[in-house]
Amino acid sequence: ADHTFSYPARPNLMDWRTLFPAWEQGKAVRFLDVGCGYGGLLVRLSELYPDTLVLGVEIRVKVSDYVQDRLMALRQKHPGSYGNAAVLRTNAMKYLPNYLEKGQLRKMFFLFPDPHFKKTKHKWRIVNSLILAEYAYLMEEGGIVYTATDVEELHQWMVEHFTSFPLFQRVSEGEEGEDPVVPLLSSVTEEGKKVERAGSRVFVACFRRITDPLTS
Ligand code: SAM
Repeated sequence: ADHTFSYPARPNLMDWRTLFPAWEQGKAVRFLDVGCGYGGLLVRLSELYPDTLVLGVEIRVKVSDYVQDRLMALRQKHPGSYGNAAVLRTNAMKYLPNYLEKGQLRKMFFLFPDPHFKKTKHKWRIVNSLILAEYAYLMEEGGIVYTATDVEELHQWMVEHFTSFPLFQRVSEGEEGEDPVVPLLSSVTEEGKKVERAGSRVFVACFRRITDPLTS
């Protein structure tokens, strides 16, 4: 239940040293993996972008503890590496603005989010019309949101919601093809590996946070 979450009242009260041993004054989280599960993407991003702070958020205690242990073990085995990746146990649908400032994220990931098939449960989808304003608020202009799912209906839902929101624009297939992160999306996470083993198709879509036409 929510009362088990503790969180800072505002982002500048967060002590990032507790999560990132490599944290330096002035450094901020730039990549966010929402519902990071067992952390496969965090590990890979940490290797590919050693100078970028990468944060995973995960609501399940056991799963976030697992990721924490996984990162600790990697840091011990490879001194000087993986200090730029961390996991935070929290509800991404409620507390992100308590941790993150306006416009600080360059990349946000939604890989294999829970589909919540029933119509009455659609409001629990991690991408929904109310919460997109919050994600747009956290992203810098030009930043990219990455989504992947094997559930076609959820893919369509995410595409519809992001494209109908005025601050996001779908990235073209051509541009997706040039983005080095895109090939990771379908198979780098534990859920992606499961889907790959089952031979199911993965639907990927990316969206750019565009400039607010009302403030530019
Ligand atoms: N992205 C991972 C992957 O591809 O392997 C995990 C996918 S799993 C199907 C969805 C994850 O999102 C679960 O681990 C779940 O606990 C987490 N999750 C669901 N709702 C969440 C929320 N509101 N805040 C944070 N994590 C959430």
